Amino acid sequence: MKTNRRRFLATALAGGAAAALPLSSRAAAARSTDSVKAKYAKLDEILKQPVLKRQFFTSPVMIETLELLRLGNSFLCRVRSKDGAEGISVSNNSQQISLAAIQVNRLQPFFIGKDARDLDNLLEEVYVYQSNYKLQSLALWVPLATIEFAILDMLGRIANKPMGLLIGDKIHNPTVSVYRANGERDVTAEAVMVNLKKQVEESQAKALKIKIGGRMSHTEFPAGRSEKLIPMVRKAFGDRMVCYADSNGSYGVEEGIKFGQLLQEYKFAFYEEPVPFDWYEETKAVADAVDIPMAGGEQEASMHAFRWLIANDGVDIVQPDVYYFGGVIRSMKVARMAAAMGKVTTPHISGGLGYLYMIHFVSVIPNAGAYHEFKGLSQAIPFECKTSNLGTTGGFVTVPTGPGSGIEIDPAFIKKHAVVMRDRGRADE
Ligand SMILES: [Mg+2]
Repeated sequence: MKTNRRRFLATALAGGAAAALPLSSRAAAARSTDSVKAKYAKLDEILKQPVLKRQFFTSPVMIETLELLRLGNSFLCRVRSKDGAEGISVSNNSQQISLAAIQVNRLQPFFIGKDARDLDNLLEEVYVYQSNYKLQSLALWVPLATIEFAILDMLGRIANKPMGLLIGDKIHNPTVSVYRANGERDVTAEAVMVNLKKQVEESQAKALKIKIGGRMSHTEFPAGRSEKLIPMVRKAFGDRMVCYADSNGSYGVEEGIKFGQLLQEYKFAFYEEPVPFDWYEETKAVADAVDIPMAGGEQEASMHAFRWLIANDGVDIVQPDVYYFGGVIRSMKVARMAAAMGKVTTPHISGGLGYLYMIHFVSVIPNAGAYHEFKGLSQAIPFECKTSNLGTTGGFVTVPTGPGSGIEIDPAFIKKHAVVMRDRGRADE
């Protein structure tokens, strides 16, 4: 990695967080000359380490029922143990509406009668169960994440700990500073600026993100929008605003480099998905050619591919999505690999309550980025949270400290949902 990119990257970490990184991480960052083989050896050791803090549970937590509940387009997952403990999660509804059958037919039966304390292993085993690995993508991981969040909610209530502390050693980030993402394309640069100013003002965020390019190599409309928008954002918000840009795989290598250089000129702090997400070699080719830190991973479904991206410096900032990547335990493995190589973790968010599970995850990672995504508070789920308003006053969100997810979903709302049944005639195995 170029020296300048290291410097950029240091500013991508939260204030003081770079210094707080474990010594091993900082040493690893300095040793960028480690052979890729040596890096793989280190990462493989990390992947073997357990994540769930099993020591909090002295007796088995046998899963008796696991249910997907539906009300229109709203999906909840409820798990109950043999001893009467209960956990509940909210799914990523826009994806789950197409994936409910995968959850009830191919995932749920596996968990019945299993000890929830074995969650690390259960996640590995269910991947092979019924050849589920053939579904690897968010088709598999969104339903599995939904199940994982419900189980962690239950375990957190048993242990009286927030879900973050079930997967991390300590709370590194009791609050999470947010960046305000503007998702607009296909409108003029001037129109983006009108909304972006409003969004930043409402959230009081100290950082923002814009979309550039046409998304997945499609031609941009209006033509020349990104070239105009990049300098416009810097001019409007001044030098102190931390600015990020996301191309969502809009470019090939040559154009990707060109925009990387433009973003660098206007002091943007990271550049996300310059080329389509699964163009690994091309991602690295852009990363090698520019100094601005490269971010990626929101579409990544494979642990092994993250291992490649990290060991080969394809990205500097990893962005697993806690739903799209199958939950916070798998995401923690990515964060650990990234930390060992001196890289930053800034997860992507999706879904109505994705930000809730994301901030629990961010609360316990030592290599969290300075700012995390916030797309606005969903009003669709009626819930109460006694320890946080989950808003962004002052540009940050307070991570709930109550047990499990830290929220209580209105029981009357849960009651309106019906259990999604398995397809008839489907064999258990
Ligand atoms: Mg993105």
